[in-house]
Amino acid sequence: MEISRRRLLGASAVTGAMGPGIVAMAGERHPTGATRFAVRRKQLKLTHTWTIARNSSDVKDNVFVRIERDGVVGWGEAAPNVRYGQSAEQTMSLLGKTRAIVEAGDWLHYVDLRERWERELPEDSCARAALDMAILDWVGGKLGSPLYRLLGLDPAKAPVTTFSIGIDSPQVIRQKVEEAKEFPALKIKVGRDNDAEILAAVRDATDKPLRVDANEGWRDKEQALEKIQWLAGLGVELIEQPLPSAMIEETAWLRERVEMPIIADEAVKTAGDIPRLAGAYDGINIKLMKSGGLQEAIRMIHVARAVGMKIMLGCMIESSVAISAAAHLSPLVDYADLDGNLLISNDPFIGVGVERGRLILNDRPGLGVRERAETL
Ligand code: MG
Repeated sequence: MEISRRRLLGASAVTGAMGPGIVAMAGERHPTGATRFAVRRKQLKLTHTWTIARNSSDVKDNVFVRIERDGVVGWGEAAPNVRYGQSAEQTMSLLGKTRAIVEAGDWLHYVDLRERWERELPEDSCARAALDMAILDWVGGKLGSPLYRLLGLDPAKAPVTTFSIGIDSPQVIRQKVEEAKEFPALKIKVGRDNDAEILAAVRDATDKPLRVDANEGWRDKEQALEKIQWLAGLGVELIEQPLPSAMIEETAWLRERVEMPIIADEAVKTAGDIPRLAGAYDGINIKLMKSGGLQEAIRMIHVARAVGMKIMLGCMIESSVAISAAAHLSPLVDYADLDGNLLISNDPFIGVGVERGRLILNDRPGLGVRERAETL
């Protein structure tokens, strides 16, 4: 993938503090085999103001990593999230600190390489995710194979993704439901004081299966029980993170009293979190930005299966880079909620497709993503 000089200059402007490596991206003078490592920040614009139980936003600042060696490019993306104490500034700074490790590493030995950067990036799971994605994208490119093929997965088994409807007024909710008409199932955000109004607006517009995400918005187990019993009557098929993540015992209490599967999201980040949640939740929502990338997400899938839990693969507000990365694992999971790229109006990349909700993985190598011209 060629990159224009204008865009390189733009990239240098935002990564100027990162050292001279960015200049090396300029190209032709460098011999084949040269390693290049660049970090760029890009503001993603939400089509609709995105509101969940804890906050609201119109834009998200994500951070992109571009690596190159032997003429093969790998892309990664970080979606810093305030819920996990992350910011674009911090993520860029931490990624800059891993430059030497990445540039010196053997990228085909990505397992060893990950161990090294995990020691260097102890707190920032989204920075780790960006590196992991970029390396695996590069490995796929180097070996000439889509990632799903390297993992032995059948892309025809990629599940249908839900389309997420953020918290909004009844009028806008009805409009969003109409915009999501090609999707066979919807994920509805609740957890503020207008849950009844939102569900009434959705049910007024559609009888599709619904999944509901409270984003830790309900305060105690009695309120959560009442809400879930009410949702069950509206044909809701699962509830995600009804109570704050620390309330594991209360969630176990809830689980004994409801039929509806309860899925952990904020309560689970990596494989190490899963065993203690097994009695309280029926399943987990894996996100690359929480796990620190694909390698850990695969571990999580296996641990969750070993303790009998269902698996959802979710996302933050992300471009087609991170959404495509997650989609490569989707043949392994029960539910997909990989729509972050569909909620933004300026996706800098093209990657996994979606047809009537079904995720369509292409046969390009690695993550199968390519940059839209002149956008990043
Ligand atoms: Mg969630």
